[in-house]
Amino acid sequence: MLSIVVPCFNEQESLPYFVKEVEKVASIITHSVEYVFVNDGSQDDTLQSLRQLYKNMPDRVRYVSFSKNFGKESALYAGLHASRGDLVTVMDADLQDPPDLLPQMIERIETSDIDCVGTRRQDREGEPVVRSFFARLFYKLVNKFGDTEMIDGARDFRLMTRQMVDAILSMTEYNRFSKGIFSWVGFNTEYISYENRERVAGTTSWSFWSLFKYSIDGIVNFSDAPLTLAALLGGLSCIAAVIALIFIVIRALLFGDPTTGWPSLASIVLFMGGLQLLFLGVIGKYIGKIFLETKKRPIYIVKETEKDIKKER
Ligand code: UDP
Ligand code: MG
Repeated sequence: MLSIVVPCFNEQESLPYFVKEVEKVASIITHSVEYVFVNDGSQDDTLQSLRQLYKNMPDRVRYVSFSKNFGKESALYAGLHASRGDLVTVMDADLQDPPDLLPQMIERIETSDIDCVGTRRQDREGEPVVRSFFARLFYKLVNKFGDTEMIDGARDFRLMTRQMVDAILSMTEYNRFSKGIFSWVGFNTEYISYENRERVAGTTSWSFWSLFKYSIDGIVNFSDAPLTLAALLGGLSCIAAVIALIFIVIRALLFGDPTTGWPSLASIVLFMGGLQLLFLGVIGKYIGKIFLETKKRPIYIVKETEKDIKKER
């Protein structure tokens, strides 16, 4: 069986198109198909649509509806948790992940030792230039300094074996960053590329600011490189200070001590103060993550599933 996990946040308009397209593909593959929709606290009628979908196809549709918006990462976890298939795929509801790639992905995973077939966009066409620039910078930084490789342009859309899904489910951390998690669990992953597509309907839930915060999370959740950088810079400036001190003492002994040079002194004090505050912030970021992690809060809270409809009958 193939499970299709679909996180949905305000996707009422996209859902009909999504199901229509996936049904076309489902009819040509030999696997039976199970949909696992996760309603991530949508404010529109996504939940009603999901109830209706379940009533139309009770053998194939399941859903999990959250008590509020927990974010896509939590929705993915819940969907993977609920899935039962031997093969599991994760797809966005907006058809930016083309379902027509599925047969090819299934074929690839079944005829080789690959555990996961991922997808990546060929280009960033149609994306604001500034956003592309920062996205590229992010991938360069994490791949250079982090220990977990993240592929530029890789989407969350992927087909995985049950074994890999179970590995992902065993990572119960609260601060979830899927791109890192998929890569951290290992297994053989192969990527196929396709041309970027626009959403069929609705709007993206990402603003520039939210993407920026997301990228900081990506770095902090999967690497302690910023902490190493702080220690390194601290060490370097210590050495520089000692050298400067020796230089000044010797100069004062040889030439006396005229009180010039205060502007450079002020700049140095400001620079060091700023550096200390910056890295205090970096350390604070990690402490914040530790704080949330030690609370051991659940990753998501379920309010309703298709079983509730079953009971009503
Ligand atoms: N999504 C979600 N919870 C959120 C935000 C998004 O479940 O808080 C879902 C959304 O419904 C969609 C997928 O995650 O299926 C990707 O979201 P979106 O299309 O907004 O992101 P983009 O494709 O622009 O990266
Ligand atoms: Mg999208």
